[in-house]
Amino acid sequence: MEKIKMPVPIAELDGDEMTHILWGMIKDQLIKPFVELNTEYYDLSLPNRDRTEDAVTRQAAEAIKRLHVGVKCATITPNYQRQEEYGLKQLWKSPNATIRAALDGTVFRAPILISRVKPVVTCWKKTITIARHAYGDVYKAVEYRVPGPGKAELVFTDEHGAELSRQTVYDFNGPGVLQAMHNRDDSILSFARCCFAYALDVKQDVWFSSKDTISKDYDQTFKLLFQKVFDEEYRAAFEQAGLHYRYALIDDVAAKVIRSSGGIIWACKNYDGDVMSDMVSTAFGSLAMMTSVLVSPDGKYEYEAAHGTVTRHYYKYLKGEKTSTNPMATIFAWSGALKKRGELDDLSELVHFGQALEEASLQTLNDGIMTKDLCGLAEGITPTAVDSEGFIKAIRERLEAKLA
Ligand code: NAP
Ligand code: MG
Repeated sequence: MEKIKMPVPIAELDGDEMTHILWGMIKDQLIKPFVELNTEYYDLSLPNRDRTEDAVTRQAAEAIKRLHVGVKCATITPNYQRQEEYGLKQLWKSPNATIRAALDGTVFRAPILISRVKPVVTCWKKTITIARHAYGDVYKAVEYRVPGPGKAELVFTDEHGAELSRQTVYDFNGPGVLQAMHNRDDSILSFARCCFAYALDVKQDVWFSSKDTISKDYDQTFKLLFQKVFDEEYRAAFEQAGLHYRYALIDDVAAKVIRSSGGIIWACKNYDGDVMSDMVSTAFGSLAMMTSVLVSPDGKYEYEAAHGTVTRHYYKYLKGEKTSTNPMATIFAWSGALKKRGELDDLSELVHFGQALEEASLQTLNDGIMTKDLCGLAEGITPTAVDSEGFIKAIRERLEAKLA
């Protein structure tokens, strides 16, 4: 069989530990035998980030901007323990945070659904994607532990030094706590654009939730800016695609989502997204089945798995043991990137290959061949537990049959 051509490369961001091992297996076993894989390779492993003073991460982000599509392996975000383990010059920032900032992007997390693993919420038939606004609010708040009686005020002074607003937050009679948080219009506007662009890409409705009845300026700003972006930039395209945008209160959406059949993108403020993404992903099954896409407001895409580098399995691997690490989310990161490359460059064979890879992977699971993390969740079949190699081999057989 002639290999599928790919004239324009994608940015390939390799990473750390067990996911790096899976990365190589996926490329060698599932992609390179079928595709003339064309990538710009960036080694984001922690030792190389340290060696290059993290320049490699910035270069990789630039490559995604230039090539419009990237695929990323999980990477270690160093803490003090990792600094010691790897002898690092400093605690480098999370590559995901660096890339997200460079692309001004939003992260969309969507589960991979299989018929053998039923969501805890039985009415969920389609994916629920959480879009989390990853800027500001409580994550960039200023806080103060109030020691005793006194007055707390919220003051805004403009760039020329004029005081435009002074409000009493609270007159304290005793000890308490204080917090001030912020957000920026430009960040909210980008978030809204990312959500609508992604919705058009995957053809799903967008629900945005906040608490504007209580937060009459803060959350109200989010609500109004979302509506403005929708009306001015996306309404026509949504109508043409038969898609809908709706705003509702966060508690209302939380209740409706539980009763829905899924198939929506739920856009959340930063904290809501933090909480809801963990809840939704757990209710769908396993972290190992969660994909993640970073989308920029001008339509650049970076695909990855939502999970980390699976350190515990890596230490077993280093001792020579076989591990049963689930490669699904990393495989889908690759298939997502290849399909997007194919879509952008009008390469129907590449799109078809990405689909075939996904189908072969799903078929393997539905046949009951599973990594250990899924065996306990499977229903209606007695699963056969395999190690990562065995699992990838089973996918390869099905993929070959599909492409033959
Ligand atoms: P993790 O790598 O997601 O793994 C946590 C646990 O979840 C694993 O020990 C394993 O449970 C299970 N798990 C996750 N993915 C799995 C898979 N594909 N197959 C089977 N089981 C899977 O999280 P972590 O151990 O907290 O973090 C490890 C490193 O990853 C850290 O250095 C962190 O900085 C980094 N991280 C990176 C990203 C990213 O690059 N996007 C995201 C999160 C974390 P069992 O041990 O019970 O089998
Ligand atoms: Mg969380």
